[in-house]
Amino acid sequence: MPALDDSDFGVQTPLSPVKSRDSNRLQRISSRNSAQLAVGSHGTISIPADGLHSNSIEVPATRSSISDAQAYMHSLSLSPSMKERRASRNSFGAALPIPRSKRQSRLSSVHYPDGRPTRPGMPPVQPSRDIIAAQIQDLSGEKVRAAKDMAFVFDIDGVLVHGDRLIPEGRRVLEILNGDNELGIKIPHIFLTNGSGKPEMPRVQQLSKILHSPISTDQFIQSHTPMRALAEYYKTVLVVGGEGYKCREVAEQYGFEDIIVPNDIVAWDPSIAPYRVFTEEERATSRPRDFSKVNIEAIMVFSDSRDYATDMQIIMDLLRSENGRLGTVAKDSVSQRIPIYFSQGDLLCPTEHPIPRMSQGTFRIGLEAMYKALTGVDLERVVYGKPELATYKYADEVIASWMEQIHNDEVLPSNIYMIGDNPQSDIIGGNMYGWNTCLVKTGVYQGEGNDKENPASFGVFKNVLEAVQTAIRKELGKDFRFEFDERINPVLHGNGVSAIE
Ligand SMILES: [Mg+2]
Repeated sequence: MPALDDSDFGVQTPLSPVKSRDSNRLQRISSRNSAQLAVGSHGTISIPADGLHSNSIEVPATRSSISDAQAYMHSLSLSPSMKERRASRNSFGAALPIPRSKRQSRLSSVHYPDGRPTRPGMPPVQPSRDIIAAQIQDLSGEKVRAAKDMAFVFDIDGVLVHGDRLIPEGRRVLEILNGDNELGIKIPHIFLTNGSGKPEMPRVQQLSKILHSPISTDQFIQSHTPMRALAEYYKTVLVVGGEGYKCREVAEQYGFEDIIVPNDIVAWDPSIAPYRVFTEEERATSRPRDFSKVNIEAIMVFSDSRDYATDMQIIMDLLRSENGRLGTVAKDSVSQRIPIYFSQGDLLCPTEHPIPRMSQGTFRIGLEAMYKALTGVDLERVVYGKPELATYKYADEVIASWMEQIHNDEVLPSNIYMIGDNPQSDIIGGNMYGWNTCLVKTGVYQGEGNDKENPASFGVFKNVLEAVQTAIRKELGKDFRFEFDERINPVLHGNGVSAIE
């Protein structure tokens, strides 16, 4: 992630030939930054000087185009080292509630690639296979204990899949963890992604199909999953981001009672978003009412905004309002401000476009800077998702609950392995939380050796299969076999799995 520095300074600002109405402020800013200006005059960015802009006057910028926002940003986003993170604004008192109930969703269910009903996380029922596996496990007490005392936490994109495309080693890994190993035992694993924008169930369905493995919603955490807890705190909320009305659906499933999305507000008063072209279909599917009579209690950014202009305008209106009442402007920006929550803080997101696209982190930083500029005070906000502590704590709850489902024993395994492709979220978060971290090279990270800033504690691996096999061999023995042999009869073959030929 590029750190911001003064090399971007020296931008020229085209200005229409109208006297600035804010010349005092301009003056103030110039004097404050006069030292920087001297440096900045050697900057590299400039607007095209092709002489075609006769309606504008080129005025040298008085300050960096970006660094003014730096002071208002979440320091984690700039330099996510542990030391600096401690001083980040997220750590000074803001709370991130996570669900007390360990069940992921009220509609928890398992999805199978081919729709066959079996048990959670298990391959299809094969009675003889299960009996053999049970016998083998009876004879291998120590290995079984070790297998139940480890767990894997997978990032999804760049580790198991690329968008809708399978990373082949990902499929094999799930076969091994679902029982294709010498003990025929399930090794606990969950999925932890900063993805968002859809209810858990369709997301799991899709993933299960791509990976050809059964996956339960109870072993799946996306960025907004722990935000379910917030439904207990707020009744009327604005939900922002995502495609169409999918995030409204997510919020409904999380138990929020009164959910408003930006379209509802635009349908009520189109002048609130002056540049928005509102289609008939959008109007027909929105739920307008008189929002001048509604107090919105909190703002939940669940996923990437599909319309920055409209969403930022409405969010800013609400943040500046009196207790979330549209059409008002707060007398006291701090005491009358409603809270805002973001489901994750990634600045950028890899897509099919060659250069990564902006994500919720950059959207948030924009809002922070706008808010500071308009009110003069810092915007306090809460960010969920990796690498926030709350998300990892929630993952612990989910692992323990999943242990109960697959091994009838609700305990948290001691040896947890986080496997991810992004040092700045998966790895830093896992390291801070005391997990073993494995960095794979099938996604974002393409460097040589370990990441310098946030090195993975268990190492760097070519792919997820190599990482999982290395971790299992460390916990269960160097000669552990990644295949279940159904032909073996443990009774006839004597004492223990060592009898397997
Ligand atoms: Mg990833």
